Amino acid sequence: MDADIVIAGAGPAGLSLAAALAGTSLSVLILERAPQRALKNPAYDGREIALTASSVAALGRLGVLQRIAEADMAPLRSARVFNGSSSHTLEFRNVRDSKSPLGLMVSNAALKRALYEAVSQHGNITLRDETIVTGARAAADTIEIQTQDASLKSCLLVAADTRFSALRASQGIGAFMYEFGKTMLVCRIHHEKPHDGVATEWFGHNQTVAMLPLQDNLSSFVITLPESQIAALMELSETQFAEEVQQRTQQRWGALSLASARFRYPLVAVFAHRFVAPRFALTGDAAVGMHPVTAHGFNLGLSGAGRLAAQILASQRAGCDIADPRGLRRYECGHRRATAPLFFATNALASLYTDERGPARVARTLGLRALNAATPVKHAIETWLSATENKHSEPTRRAA
Ligand SMILES: Cc1cc2nc3c(=O)[nH]c(=O)nc-3n(C[C@H](O)[C@H](O)[C@H](O)COP(=O)(O)OP(=O)(O)OC[C@H]3O[C@@H](n4cnc5c(N)ncnc54)[C@H](O)[C@@H]3O)c2cc1C
Repeated sequence: MDADIVIAGAGPAGLSLAAALAGTSLSVLILERAPQRALKNPAYDGREIALTASSVAALGRLGVLQRIAEADMAPLRSARVFNGSSSHTLEFRNVRDSKSPLGLMVSNAALKRALYEAVSQHGNITLRDETIVTGARAAADTIEIQTQDASLKSCLLVAADTRFSALRASQGIGAFMYEFGKTMLVCRIHHEKPHDGVATEWFGHNQTVAMLPLQDNLSSFVITLPESQIAALMELSETQFAEEVQQRTQQRWGALSLASARFRYPLVAVFAHRFVAPRFALTGDAAVGMHPVTAHGFNLGLSGAGRLAAQILASQRAGCDIADPRGLRRYECGHRRATAPLFFATNALASLYTDERGPARVARTLGLRALNAATPVKHAIETWLSATENKHSEPTRRAA
């Protein structure tokens, strides 16, 4: 055996799984196609991750949060949703503890750096960079893993190799894939007026726009449009772009200036038909690749990594094979239950809120009003967003 567990992909999900298995008696080998320097010092990619209170607590227990500089974190006090020019807004707060924020904003680059640092400290974890996993074949006692120049053996292979996972397909696992026909542009914007830690998201006028609060007078600007319009925004000079954003945000933040490069992400949501196969499991976006509008891709990846680590360790404690199919099946059932409702609700929401046809406009106006009036529903969402404990999904770090 080259390792008890091989993880393909050192993105946030693969590293979260490794962190959840750190300090155990299991040897973990991470194979990543990118070079080590890109993992040690990830480039800024425009993604600002809204961590839920539950994820913040989990990252604290994994020793990851402590590695993120104060200056790279910003509290998300509440979230406000507007529908076009309607005066009706929907507001979400931390209902469990009104003094605590709803979550924390941290850049994907800072998160990846902290995860990498945290797993690098542990003797049971090895990372091999510039290594592309090209395929795998499960046998009775092992799984054989092919890379571009070698063949390795392990008890279990976990694929965390993006939502377009080649390993998922190599194991005969299909996926539900939804292309929204839209692209998301993200960048940082300096603005004159304060954001007060409130995330603002609004829909209508053929666009979906969000301003996510970062440091003082700095926000992440997020806009979703058809690709051709995003391409035009990418072409604008910095000054023209700032003017365009000012107009699209109705001057709510006063004078604006661009504070980072602009990045674009074509929107595709993915839900794997199965999350496991013999000696094989999917995690992160490879299992569930969310539309970013509800800001849950990494949050679900982190809870899934915790759930998978807990099952592996439970199988080991019970004296079973760590790839025991019953344990993998329990992971699959739990993760499917935890993610499917949010995945399909997010897709429905994203489609409804980017559809400018009359019936869709009426439906979302009524929907927002109904949600505001339906206090138990809104309360349920707020409770879920504010939850700090979820015994089924917390990453565990128990010495085996
Ligand atoms: C604009 C935007 C905003 C977002 N905002 C939020 C948010 O607010 N909150 C939130 O929770 N989530 C958010 N997300 C989602 C979040 O970024 C993703 O869910 C998360 O990055 C997925 O991590 P991952 O490790 O599964 O995949 P990835 O980040 O795609 O990493 C996969 C890794 O696998 C490696 N790899 C791929 N193939 C191979 C191979 N064959 N061999 C070896 N290595 C391989 C890649 O090099 C990469 O390092 C957002 C996403 C976007 C696009």
